[in-house]
Amino acid sequence: MFRAFTTIATMLTLTGTAMHSDEINVYSYRQPELIKPLFDAFSKETGIDINIAFLKKGLVEKLLAEGDRSPADLVVTVDISRLNSVVEAGVTQSVSSEIMNKNIPSKFRDPDGHWFGLTSRARIIYASKERVLDGEVTTYEDLASSKWSGRICTRAGTNSYNLALTSSMIAHHGKVEAKKWLHGLKDNLARKPSGNDRAQVKAIWSGECDISIGNTYYMKKLLSNKDQRAWAESVRIIFPKFENGGTHVNLSGIALTKAAPNKENAIKLMEWLTGEDAQEIYAEKNGEYPLRPGSNPSELVSSWGKLTPDTIPLITLAKLRPDSLRITEEVGFDE
Ligand code: FE
Repeated sequence: MFRAFTTIATMLTLTGTAMHSDEINVYSYRQPELIKPLFDAFSKETGIDINIAFLKKGLVEKLLAEGDRSPADLVVTVDISRLNSVVEAGVTQSVSSEIMNKNIPSKFRDPDGHWFGLTSRARIIYASKERVLDGEVTTYEDLASSKWSGRICTRAGTNSYNLALTSSMIAHHGKVEAKKWLHGLKDNLARKPSGNDRAQVKAIWSGECDISIGNTYYMKKLLSNKDQRAWAESVRIIFPKFENGGTHVNLSGIALTKAAPNKENAIKLMEWLTGEDAQEIYAEKNGEYPLRPGSNPSELVSSWGKLTPDTIPLITLAKLRPDSLRITEEVGFDE
């Protein structure tokens, strides 16, 4: 059974002995470097080993195919739609935990206990320090204004981060207005969408565009990379808001699988990840926003400014994903 677990995964880190009883198996869409330090700290504290299978795609299909025999206990991923798609596929089970209910605000967890947020991140504007004035962009709606013609860079509109942002636009203004906005944004692009969020900041640094859309924590990643630090230093972060709301946030989260062979330990890990120590590691090492009340973002993250998160429930954004994808394709955003 464990062999199957290792061969299908695109990459695997084994930290323990296979079939050892004190272990937890995790399927993750999150990159190794982001969760490894956390899992290592948990293992050190509890003696429970964690095996991680990093998957680039097909996580739901894999769980469905494995059924009751799946070795996976937990699913870790970013983006509310991805998390929700695991739940909707029927491969998770409900967890009732006083600890998690206390540590995670209700809007960041499933009322039925099938998914729990672990951290949040804002989708914000990276703006050229040289070519963008203070106050020049304050809302997401602004991005469709013709004053930005030829000045914006972004990754693909069909990327899950951008789909969630467009879902927010639909939630605030309806599908028709959201589609107009997407059209306007597309018309303002300096180039065809390509690359990740970091590549857009590089394009600002090189003068190709003046602003880009990206997640907050990439600023920390850029600053910690000696080859990318200059890109980060050419921009500042602006927290745009919706005209009738706040700044768009998304999450990283976790769910217990239906088959979970190591359920008790898996819940122990879930609870630990929402606790003080883990939330601090998330904040410090990953530059994400902790969800636990009383845990604060790192000094660096705080220095970017005050985040006022939008109030549209995250699950609403997941439900709007099909509409968001449709209008993104209809405007030919990535063409
Ligand atoms: Fe990311």
